[in-house]
Amino acid sequence: MKIVSACLLGINCKYDGGNNRNEKIISLLKDEILIPVCPEQLGGLSTPRSPSEIRGDRVYSAEGEDLTENFKRGAEEVLKIAKLYRIKEAIFKDGSPSCGVNYIYDGTFKGVRIKGKGITTRLLEREGVRVISEKDI
Ligand code: SF4
Repeated sequence: MKIVSACLLGINCKYDGGNNRNEKIISLLKDEILIPVCPEQLGGLSTPRSPSEIRGDRVYSAEGEDLTENFKRGAEEVLKIAKLYRIKEAIFKDGSPSCGVNYIYDGTFKGVRIKGKGITTRLLEREGVRVISEKDI
């Protein structure tokens, strides 16, 4: 059993109201249970919503609103689910300020990628959950 970014399973939870449906991830459902989570929705943000990026240890919307508490709350909710089901591994959408694994964006909203992890990925890894990106599947 694994946790997976809900948008990878085709759920419309992305900031723009769309998804990141990934057939390779969906095909994993043949052999195992995948629990869909969207940390940003679980943190109380609506869909659609403004895009957000991490600057330092905080998260801001494109309009400059500090959404750090929503992102932290979403991460805690995902951790609760992981603990409840004794989850040891998660497959997350890379690049997201919540779910990013190998890279995130630099906080300038100019499409600049930098090495780094999303807020939920950081928390899960600290708690011993292995997080891999959809590209590592
Ligand atoms: Fe997908 Fe994660 Fe963004 Fe939700 S927070 S839309 S699950 S990448």
